[in-house]
Amino acid sequence: MSGSESKERRGILEDGDAVSRGIPAHYQPRAQGGVQFLHSVSKHMMSLRLIRWSGGPVFGLVLAVSSAAQTEDAALRRAKAILRTTPIIDTHNDLPWIIREKGTPPRDVEAYDISKRARFDTDIPRLREGMVGAQFWSVYVPSGLGPLDAMRTQLEQIDIARRLIAKYPNDLGFAASVADIRRQIARGRIASLLGIEGGHTIANSLGALRAYYDLGVRYMTLTHFHTNDWADAATDSVRHNGLTRFGGEVVREMNRLGMLVDISHVSPATMSDVLATVEAPVLFSHSSARALTDHARNVPDSILRRLPQNGGVVMVAFIPPFVSEPARQWSEELFPRLTQAASDSQWQRLTREYVAEKGPSPRATIKDVADHIEHIRKVAGVNHVGIGADFYGAEAEHDLVQGLEDVSRYPALFAELVRRGWTDADLRKIAGENLLRVFRQAEVTAERLRRTRPSSNATIEELDRRPVP
Ligand SMILES: [Zn+2]
Repeated sequence: MSGSESKERRGILEDGDAVSRGIPAHYQPRAQGGVQFLHSVSKHMMSLRLIRWSGGPVFGLVLAVSSAAQTEDAALRRAKAILRTTPIIDTHNDLPWIIREKGTPPRDVEAYDISKRARFDTDIPRLREGMVGAQFWSVYVPSGLGPLDAMRTQLEQIDIARRLIAKYPNDLGFAASVADIRRQIARGRIASLLGIEGGHTIANSLGALRAYYDLGVRYMTLTHFHTNDWADAATDSVRHNGLTRFGGEVVREMNRLGMLVDISHVSPATMSDVLATVEAPVLFSHSSARALTDHARNVPDSILRRLPQNGGVVMVAFIPPFVSEPARQWSEELFPRLTQAASDSQWQRLTREYVAEKGPSPRATIKDVADHIEHIRKVAGVNHVGIGADFYGAEAEHDLVQGLEDVSRYPALFAELVRRGWTDADLRKIAGENLLRVFRQAEVTAERLRRTRPSSNATIEELDRRPVP
């Protein structure tokens, strides 16, 4: 728990009215007046307010600093001012899996303390420093597990994530809708949502899909590394040439429920089939641009060009082989081996062996990530890009993007975009407004579909007319 932080925040909130006036409509809870969101409790935020209120340009003339350093500081200051009123909504963080695999003891939510600096890339002080307003926690399950093991592990990961959120009531607040996100941010909590990674965990059951929705899951990545019984993955063999008929029914049922259809990890043919099937905007929760880095996990321009019509959004990942071509080439032989890893320790061992063999990977940088954001803006438009960093507890330096090593670093990325001439309005879109628009459209679609379409009783045996192992 972090009671003292909460008290400090309440203190700031009480006189925070002037600061909150700039909060855009998207982030304002509709039925709540008075108390407004003020993001960070840390001391640097206090000083940021002082700088803003004391007339920065005057100080700029007085202080004898080099112009380069001054520009640097001005960019970061502007980035932070934007994120203070429009905080980051990130769509992919693997902390629940880290707790399961790397916690001591494993799976022990009580023992894994994120109220202070934790061992890996994610904890509450650094989420606050990173100006994160909402986080989709990935309830990831390896795609090599059989259906019953996958389903059990899925329930356990949802349980870990729900207990994690409940453990820090002053800092994390469970959210399952756009209204919840706004409400939690207004209360000063990091809105905490759940996203499934790997449609194999429904074990071909639409009943299971609906049960996961009722447990609070608001997106599902249709596949993980492996092709499943109804959708082809980007990193596995082609079995269906996209979606099967049952796969189409899964997508339609997700739209009826209001669960975002996440097409990170799927093959381009599956992406294309999903775009032809969906009734609401799609989500890529953690992918980057294939034209810049030719990784199978990235989104080709042919798909990016279809996003304006669909309305969906690509949330750019901070994974070195997804954002840097030299890093991708280095990982070319490693990545297929990693898709076979059934546990985190296996993943680490395979990586260590590869580094011993090949030497370390070239580093990816913050500029690479900014290049990907700008490419997606160029091809799909600024309404179709956001941030899904995919922090997963990486331990090797080359697995981290230089400058974006942990959840405290989002403002540095926004400062880079400020230096590239981005407008405040466009920065707000990629910080979170685009994601809120997509999520809201999915909710409105679900409200409409539920009025006209009952729950689907379809089975894979009926629709795909072949035995399922
Ligand atoms: Zn992933």
